[in-house]
Amino acid sequence: MSSFNILIAEIACPSCGNKSQVRIQFKFGNTWQLKYRVGDIITWGGNDTGSPNLGQVKVYGIIESSTCPFCKKNAIPEEYDILVVNNEITSVTPLVEIQDYLKGNGEFVIL
Ligand SMILES: [Zn+2]
Repeated sequence: MSSFNILIAEIACPSCGNKSQVRIQFKFGNTWQLKYRVGDIITWGGNDTGSPNLGQVKVYGIIESSTCPFCKKNAIPEEYDILVVNNEITSVTPLVEIQDYLKGNGEFVIL
């Protein structure tokens, strides 16, 4: 079984504009179904992906459901860049460049 962590975030629906709480899966830090929010510090020491001394990192994230609970359209972006600065999750934004991840280990990129 593949393990991951979950970032819980408020994301605006591009179709109707309403914000809803979504779950975004990612692999960084101790990867063990841990739940985070923006502003939280990454936990290490276990099933680690990456390491705690990488400075600024962007981590690939994929949403569990892109269906907007308001307009019911599959309109919410599926893939995200999760920015981690010195182990703090500082932001989550729709993915800009998938190639960045494909060139590396597929899970995160050191900036
Ligand atoms: Zn919507």
